Amino acid sequence: AGSGKFFVGGNWKCNGTKDSISKLVSELNAATLETDVDVVVAPPFIYIDQVKNSLTGRIEVSAQNVWIGKGGAYTGEISAEQLVDIGVQWVILGHSERRHIIGEDDEFIGKKAAYALSQNVKLIACIGELLEEREAGKTFDVCFKQMKAFADSISNWADVVIAYEPVWAIGTGKVATPEQAQEVHAAVRDWLKTNVSPEVASSTRIIYGGSVNAANCAELAKKEDIDGFLVGGASLKWLLFVALKTPL
Ligand code: PEP
Repeated sequence: AGSGKFFVGGNWKCNGTKDSISKLVSELNAATLETDVDVVVAPPFIYIDQVKNSLTGRIEVSAQNVWIGKGGAYTGEISAEQLVDIGVQWVILGHSERRHIIGEDDEFIGKKAAYALSQNVKLIACIGELLEEREAGKTFDVCFKQMKAFADSISNWADVVIAYEPVWAIGTGKVATPEQAQEVHAAVRDWLKTNVSPEVASSTRIIYGGSVNAANCAELAKKEDIDGFLVGGASLKWLLFVALKTPL
């Protein structure tokens, strides 16, 4: 892990029911979490209010998406103002499922990032390459292009966490090796140093996502430039957060 406060985000994606989420929240409330770790969970929109009303304040809440600007006549969308209204502090943007299944591009994601930050919603900014891009030796090109789109929209880096999530590792059970992840994290930090500033490069947390679980998180967390995790499947079980006590 790097020098910033370790960060663990749980992305519940489009999973859960009122009952299963109530159970998960009770387990999280009862868990003993390390004091020097930021913990954030991202429930589906429809359950955010339930979670906000029942989850310990020790754990912050993130949305999984947000509209590109001020709310209004945008059917089916949720605005940053509405997130703030119900006490949501974070939003995940650029997730591979939204890039590759929904079809969001860098420009659209950049607009969302700029507007969310303007409303003081903090950002979990996701980047990552497809398997064919990795195999074609394009991992850095893809990640740097995605980084540039975010960087062009970001003025306050203190409110940003970068999540490196190789698409081939998300939901596949095929976790990147600690060396594979470290290589990209170091390259992204170097990119920040050159393209933003040395201060931002050293203070911005770069977290890893892609099939992280209680069994593999300890080895990943030892790497110099891995400052935390974004966890999908395993975040539906509270045990992951407890497992994190061991490596830290
Ligand atoms: C994610 O969705 O951000 C993710 C990393 O999922 P999983 O942990 O299930 O691979």
